[in-house]
Amino acid sequence: MIEFDGIRFNALISKRIMQTLAEHDPSLVSVDPGQIEAKVTKGVFMAAIARINNMPFFPKVAEFGEGNLLDKCDPSVLTRGGFAPLCVDENRIIVAISNPWSTAADEYVAMRFPELEIVKIVTLTSEISRTIEAVSSNAGPSRDELEAIEVEDTDDKIKDFDVTSDYEEPMAQLIATIMASAVKQRASDVHFKVEKETFYYAFRVDGDIGKKVEIPMKLKDRLDAYLLNLMKLPAEIRNTTPGISGRFTISYFRRPIDIRYERHRTYRGYHITMRLLDKGHLDVTLGKGSLAFDEATLLAMDKVMKIPAGIIVMSGPTGSGKSTTLNAILREMNTPDVNILTLENPVEDEIPGVTHCDLKNPGEFKPMIASFMRSDPDIILMGEVRDIESAELAIEAAVTGHKVLTTIHTPRASQIIERFEQLGIERWKIAQTLKAACAQRLIKVLCPYCKMEQQGIGDKERVIYGLDDSWATRTVYNHLADGCQECHGSGYSGRTAILEIIPITPKVSDMLSKGEITPYELELKIQEEGVLPNLRNNGLKLLAEGKTDLAAIGKMIDMSTDE
Ligand SMILES: [Zn+2]
Repeated sequence: MIEFDGIRFNALISKRIMQTLAEHDPSLVSVDPGQIEAKVTKGVFMAAIARINNMPFFPKVAEFGEGNLLDKCDPSVLTRGGFAPLCVDENRIIVAISNPWSTAADEYVAMRFPELEIVKIVTLTSEISRTIEAVSSNAGPSRDELEAIEVEDTDDKIKDFDVTSDYEEPMAQLIATIMASAVKQRASDVHFKVEKETFYYAFRVDGDIGKKVEIPMKLKDRLDAYLLNLMKLPAEIRNTTPGISGRFTISYFRRPIDIRYERHRTYRGYHITMRLLDKGHLDVTLGKGSLAFDEATLLAMDKVMKIPAGIIVMSGPTGSGKSTTLNAILREMNTPDVNILTLENPVEDEIPGVTHCDLKNPGEFKPMIASFMRSDPDIILMGEVRDIESAELAIEAAVTGHKVLTTIHTPRASQIIERFEQLGIERWKIAQTLKAACAQRLIKVLCPYCKMEQQGIGDKERVIYGLDDSWATRTVYNHLADGCQECHGSGYSGRTAILEIIPITPKVSDMLSKGEITPYELELKIQEEGVLPNLRNNGLKLLAEGKTDLAAIGKMIDMSTDE
């Protein structure tokens, strides 16, 4: 089955699409429908589905969107349904759609504009969002608008902070606009920082902090106070508490998005980081989208998931998508006959049928786990092992026959055992309960619109990254230096996860316990055998497939070798 640009097509339609694409490009005849998203551009794909339905295809339509038509529609219905009315031509209404097999557009538009005949045209999903967003929110506050904000304005308490409506209060409008554009740009974090001469905000998108947007310095206290007020925190704690944590919920076209707030007092003022826990991106499935692992990795994961009891640990730096993958694993394991409990701070992805518990403070950890065990769970997800207490509890749960999924903060999978030792756990204990040590990284994917072929990798880079001579002549890809319009100048579009999995079999467990092999030696041995997925090889595989470039891999993986 095909899943393309967030749209799923059933088996019959998928077959038809594959036939049409193959007529256009014979090299696609033997491609698996599940892999098609990586093989053709969005334009080629959408043109094919338009052709099948005898509809015209337009790659750019947002400029034709008429505000007065869109104003009569509910933007969240349009966003969810993947369509947007564009303009009226005599008695006909032109509607842009991305999935011709969906009836959502016909039903809704017929209800809203009963007197008009519907004419559908096919376009890219991104164009539909652009059309809707072009009229439903403004581009961002201008310098003049910011300067015009009166710092004496009074506050009103706001319960649900809807970032897609209009506010009379200028500070509310400013923060709403910033948060709405953060969601639109798929930012994971919004930073507000006071420095010596400047006060600015910036978004983190795909792991990188983007351009700094200056805000007049005079607004720094008002903005700070406004955010604290949103969380019902008293403004005075700014001066008494060095670090403040909080959370609130914003609503983006009626879609709730949780925001996790951290504020650090600094010499010059403060640094606020707000993480957007956008659930729209979290409903991910193993083998799809950003978790489209290769077959070897999926097979290794399958084996890991079938282990009856023991600990499965996912390691990696902050922002490597560890918990997203664990949640996807949990979704796979979530059958009606198993009892799953999670203990997280915060709960990131609510899965139907799973009991989620929100950890309010670290002190709650032990009593929570104790009460957990009484409810007879089969699988326990613990947000993170960070101290001796959580490490011991994970081991205890595994010893008593539970499957435990958790994360730990180490770069390599082989360092997981040492990390448990540093926390005060004897090696034999962790060697006997750990069943799989995994590590993950998110690698940026090249923008399909501006990626370029490159013939071979130069001598110097081959030495730096330990690549053999075959790379001197292989075709790889990089991107236009300044990117293009589609990728907002970054050269990349989204990220994909790669994994390393070290299974701890009974034999390996025995050798580790007796000290006959070190975790690092085990990692090297597995790398030599070359059967199990590891970060370096999976990164190079992405490079060979033209999905990413060497710069993106080098930034995320330690590519050095001992040779
Ligand atoms: Zn581009």
